[in-house]
Amino acid sequence: MERCSGRVKACRVAGGVITMALTVASCGTGGSGEATAPSPASSPNGTRTVPRAQPEVSAWHKWGLSPLPATPQPPADKPVKLSATGTVPVLTRIPTSQKVVFITIDDGQEKDPRFVRMMRDLRIPVTMFLMNDAIKSDYAYFKPLQALGNHIQNHTLHHPVMSSLPLARQREEVCGDQRILTEKYGTAPLLFRPPYGAYNHNTRIAAGECGPRAIVWWRESMQIRNMQYQAPDKKLRNGDIILAHFRGPSELKGTTMTQMFANLLKRIREQGFAVARLEDYIQPPTR
Ligand SMILES: [Zn+2]
Repeated sequence: MERCSGRVKACRVAGGVITMALTVASCGTGGSGEATAPSPASSPNGTRTVPRAQPEVSAWHKWGLSPLPATPQPPADKPVKLSATGTVPVLTRIPTSQKVVFITIDDGQEKDPRFVRMMRDLRIPVTMFLMNDAIKSDYAYFKPLQALGNHIQNHTLHHPVMSSLPLARQREEVCGDQRILTEKYGTAPLLFRPPYGAYNHNTRIAAGECGPRAIVWWRESMQIRNMQYQAPDKKLRNGDIILAHFRGPSELKGTTMTQMFANLLKRIREQGFAVARLEDYIQPPTR
């Protein structure tokens, strides 16, 4: 696996082809999978929506936090519309005038029960890109998170640098994770995130053939206390997609998953943003 270091914005992969700027956070250990969770309600046009009651102030305080701005109703006309055919698009931000950002959590290595309690308390919408090698020891861990309305999406079987692999191997990675996630979580992933953010045209072909209809990239990546920004002014913008990971103290210099996530929410709140559900802004293909 290639090395990523420092503030490098690109990682050189096997074969020397750089497809995308990368951030350090994306270069950590194991990554993984995803899938799309069933939602408890449907909107009039038949698309999934998830009603979210705002948590009590005491719930925020329990986790050392002040309330975030309330999540606005998602637009009835979803700003991203996916096609059932053709080359899959790459999303790095959702076009929206709402002051919202989206949290994505990758891999699945850390399975902290307190994080489930935190999410039950706070009802922060997240999208989980799960990688099979990281989750196969305990698929059940992610089900309570899914039951909260959070979707599970595809992040490969083994977390390879996809752009270094031939199409057939890329297809194995995406289709393999797609099959397992669909089987374990009852719904087929709509989205794919390539490990390290590294992809090429064959990745887009493989994703499309295996089921996901979009590749999801990111604008900011959460570290331990702060986010790493791609924008020079280090500010969140409407519709930004934030990358975080299921990581524990061994990977966070002693910080726990819930502490890291609390730090992330503080950074978002400081800038006045609400957190919205990524899938509420993406229209799946009509079949
Ligand atoms: Zn990953």
